[in-house]
Amino acid sequence: MRTFVYTSRPSRVVFGAGTVRRVRDEAERLGCSRVLLLSSPALPEASARVRRTLGDMLVAEFDGAAMHTPVEVTEQALDVLTQASADGIVAIGGGSTTGLSKALALRTDLPQVVLPTTYAGSEVTPVLGETRDGRKVTQSSPSILPETVVYDVDFTLTLPLPMTVTSGVNALAHAVEALYSSDANPVTDQQALDAISRIARALPRLTADPADPEARADLLHAAWLAGTCLATVGMGLHHKLCHTLGGSFDLPHAETHTVVLPHAMAYNAPAVPGVMRRIADALGVPDAPSGVYDLVASLGGPTSLRDLGLPEWSLAHAAELAVSTPYPNPRKLTAEDMAELLTDAWHGRRPEGPPSTEAGLARLTEQVVASFARAPEPRVRTLLSDLVRHLHTFVATNDVTDAEWQYAIDFLTRTGQLCSPTRQEFVLLSDTLGVSSAVDLLTNSRTPTTTPSAVLGPFYVEGPPEAAHGSDISGGLPGIPLWADVRITGTDGEPVKDAVVDVWQSNKEGFYDVQLPDLDGPVLRARLRTHADGRIRFWSILPSEYPIPDDGPVGHMLGAVERHPYRAPHLHFMIDAPGHRRLVTQLFVSGGAYLDSDTVFGVKDELVVDFAPQTGPTPDGRQVEGQWRRLDYTFRIAPLAD
Ligand code: NAD
Repeated sequence: MRTFVYTSRPSRVVFGAGTVRRVRDEAERLGCSRVLLLSSPALPEASARVRRTLGDMLVAEFDGAAMHTPVEVTEQALDVLTQASADGIVAIGGGSTTGLSKALALRTDLPQVVLPTTYAGSEVTPVLGETRDGRKVTQSSPSILPETVVYDVDFTLTLPLPMTVTSGVNALAHAVEALYSSDANPVTDQQALDAISRIARALPRLTADPADPEARADLLHAAWLAGTCLATVGMGLHHKLCHTLGGSFDLPHAETHTVVLPHAMAYNAPAVPGVMRRIADALGVPDAPSGVYDLVASLGGPTSLRDLGLPEWSLAHAAELAVSTPYPNPRKLTAEDMAELLTDAWHGRRPEGPPSTEAGLARLTEQVVASFARAPEPRVRTLLSDLVRHLHTFVATNDVTDAEWQYAIDFLTRTGQLCSPTRQEFVLLSDTLGVSSAVDLLTNSRTPTTTPSAVLGPFYVEGPPEAAHGSDISGGLPGIPLWADVRITGTDGEPVKDAVVDVWQSNKEGFYDVQLPDLDGPVLRARLRTHADGRIRFWSILPSEYPIPDDGPVGHMLGAVERHPYRAPHLHFMIDAPGHRRLVTQLFVSGGAYLDSDTVFGVKDELVVDFAPQTGPTPDGRQVEGQWRRLDYTFRIAPLAD
């Protein structure tokens, strides 16, 4: 049984996107009517939004917060607060602005509403570190803790990527040290592990798209959880080292956390192997300290104290300071050990972890994804990053061998080599894998009031011959005569004039003209235009089922999985009308073969229609011996505004 003590901190948290709208209500809830706003010059728009929301409640503003909360700055802000007779503080910004708010609250006991814009976590702790005469002194008091925190995810979207990474690792450090704290308890353990997983998930996504709102929300949520851990349990070696380096050597806060964390973890790891395993699991890596180092490196974050500007000669002094006052830490500390740790951190050495393929692969994936970070087009960045992640996962989960990958490359090479103006093997590949139909489903079939679309297929040829109404597009090829009477209407049922309708189909044996080199010119394909009645009428022949070309790599693939290559019989249509969205679709012959197993997955129930058998007189008086078929159909096409 585990014995523990848990003290919760009484902050109120409002979390979401656009939550800035609630700031005035939250300030009123704390009894404020005259508010001092601590704003941030780096966040002009966000500060303006807070200003607008506060309205006439805002009586004074101060925008000079500085890192490590120098007391001179606090005194200036206190003057502004006193002269304005403010009865509450609202602060928007990173840990520095929050620190100033806390310093003012400590001196005045006024209530605070804080809107954090980084992941430092200070907003939920009752701790304040102030710098006086170059020395940073930390104290804790209930009056320091902000009463209300408004997390508005929108305000973090502008945080530059390097700062996002270092601030995110700052939050990670709170969660990591909470897990091996001497005050650790089941509640903070869960919060810490949740925070670690969210950070590990969000940071790589943000390097691909820094404005990804879900990843931003994940990271801000993690910052709150990690800050809560920091507020609830004592921290160890890592925070002590960062405090020393920041306070005595003026190193930047979040960057220092980012460099030191893997080394502090590696030092403590032998004393808390179980905790390190849980951290590694939450991060999704085999080894926690080297996993954190790899994560930072793959995100382009800082890995050496040298790069942060720390002179090498100061390492010994920093090591002495780090052990000058005792504090709880899972592993005993000596100045020699600290000097060694700081030397590793100064050089940016990777902590030794067990060599592992997974770690190497994760690093490789993130390096490739990071290589897209500067792509100016966000959509390109997202698609390429996601494609690479899926491909790497595919290769890893299937343990793809060298020979298999070479085979795949050879397969794609042959697919490309077979493509020509009349043979599109890549379209066939996309069709037979169902990708064309998937893209079609997602992009074209979202309007329930229009005729469903279907894939274009590989046999469309630009600029088919113009045909007159009532003409025969079969070029005299044998087959059951087909009379098509087709109407094009809008979603309102009104006929669409001047629609350009391209039609194409296979012959009785299932071949398209482009597959028949002996044919003279285009056959069984035509372009007709609608008049005011929205109709086109033409003669053709009944299409039949046919195999897609199966003498290439795609046919090979179908054979290897014992799939037939047949398409259900159908007629293709492409309809372009002024003011309307293009419709590409197919009409399938009801009762035809392969409707259930069309090899390109193109059949949709609504597109299976009667090609009704007829005998006797035809609509235009043409003489037909025996049976003929009749297709009557109305296409509903969407206006462009939809
Ligand atoms: P910071 O507040 O100094 O911000 C760094 C820079 O980023 C600033 O120029 C800031 O204006 C800018 N910035 C902040 N949010 C931005 C955004 N969304 N978009 C664009 N620019 C933005 O840095 P920090 O790391 O958040 O805070 C560090 C300070 O917080 C240190 O003084 C540290 O000691 C303190 N801190 C205290 C605690 C605690 O519990 N007492 C905890 C963590 C940090």
